[in-house]
Amino acid sequence: MTEGFPPDTPSAASATLWAECLDLLAQEIPEQQFNTWIRPLAARVVDDGSRVVIAVANRFKMDWIRAQYAARITALLESLHGSPVTLELALAPRETPSRTVPTARTVQDQVLAELPDVAPAEPATPSAPKSRLNPALTFANLVEGSANRMARAAAMHVAGSLGQLYNPLFIYGGVGLGKTHLVHAIGNHLLAERPNAKVLYIHAEQFVSDVVKSYQRKTFDEFKERYHSLDLLLIDDVQFFANKERTQEEFFNAFEALLAKKSHIVLTSDTYPKGLADIHERLVSRFDSGLTVAIEPPELEMRVAILINKAAAENAVMPEEVAFFVAKNVRSNVRELEGALRKILAYSRFNQKDISIQLAREALKDLLSIQNRQIGVENIQKTVADFYKIKVADMYSKKRPASIARPRQIAMFLAKELTQKSLPEIGELFGGRDHTTVLHAVRKIAGERQQNTELNQQLHVLEQTLKG
Ligand code: ADP
Ligand code: MG
Repeated sequence: MTEGFPPDTPSAASATLWAECLDLLAQEIPEQQFNTWIRPLAARVVDDGSRVVIAVANRFKMDWIRAQYAARITALLESLHGSPVTLELALAPRETPSRTVPTARTVQDQVLAELPDVAPAEPATPSAPKSRLNPALTFANLVEGSANRMARAAAMHVAGSLGQLYNPLFIYGGVGLGKTHLVHAIGNHLLAERPNAKVLYIHAEQFVSDVVKSYQRKTFDEFKERYHSLDLLLIDDVQFFANKERTQEEFFNAFEALLAKKSHIVLTSDTYPKGLADIHERLVSRFDSGLTVAIEPPELEMRVAILINKAAAENAVMPEEVAFFVAKNVRSNVRELEGALRKILAYSRFNQKDISIQLAREALKDLLSIQNRQIGVENIQKTVADFYKIKVADMYSKKRPASIARPRQIAMFLAKELTQKSLPEIGELFGGRDHTTVLHAVRKIAGERQQNTELNQQLHVLEQTLKG
């Protein structure tokens, strides 16, 4: 399977075969997954197209791609090529990033720009290392589902064999999906095994203010000593480094120092590395140089499991049917799910009643009535975006890859079907599109629905979800 990556023999036909295959994959794989797994792949087509070798960055990705995508990729290649294709996965030769030395800069203006977070009167932080870990956030109480399986597996691997593979580990996903929980779990797991390990959890904003403080107090050596001596640095929400030049530079230094001594770095962010805005390219490429994994919004079964687990942790019994009822109605993220559960538990205790669907309905009255009042175009856009795992913003964006354009057309179709809005009004709500665009989408989806049972099934689920 891994004979190595053949030398580049550029041929227009072979380049086209892979490019066409990518186009097709982009249409059927959710955008986030496509960006994480498929887009970075380099492929060589050899032997007139009967053999395709894909270079994969590391063993973890190789296993994952083999398990998740290889069969589909082969099938697509074969249908494009018109005859059997052997797919091989090879480890890509590892690029060693050039060790650029950060340029000396005038510190003062950058520090000033990054200053607002700081309370200058605060006493100096004691140098005693504190991990800042929350012991309540562990692997044991992080429910696994297909939405986080990959990220969880990678995190457990890192926690169990620090400094070896997947360094840095970059975890990204939307709010409330469990990124912070996961990084604390890594730290807690490590400390349970090696109580003397030097671990630090820090939110990116806190790191910014640490940098600023150490400049103000001229305690930069202490700062360096503190960060550069860690075994494991967990840094949360690195999107907050945007536009913080000085911080980025210090982080870059810490990053290099830690990697050089085989300490591990785990980062989280709301987007994948290349999607980060206003962060220095050299830092972005470091972020992406280990393993990058996504956490997706939890699917229904996972939401049910989370509710049942969390209720049990509170010594309450949540019957499965109630968990299903709540999970169907609270869809966006785990934090909202927890909010709903808290309301139900409080309501049940206060009224001394067991948890039932009726009780959940009453406890969540406000939340449900907002959802059910009427079906709005916004709600349709959000539901369809969730369903197809794209961003709501893509409903109004001008982007045109099929992975986005199709859900958008489906949302337009549903908007026409389920609301009283006119075609021009709908076009307006989809980023100012022309009414003919909406009409085209409505006709197209309505027509395809008759032919395509899978689409029909999806529309059915969406309609039921929206009607509540
Ligand atoms: P993020 O950092 O991605 O915004 P958090 O890690 O803060 O999200 O998670 C939000 C809440 O949901 C936390 O209380 C966390 O414990 C909980 N949570 C998230 N994912 C899971 C999961 N898979 N199982 C159990 N609890 C979870
Ligand atoms: Mg978080």
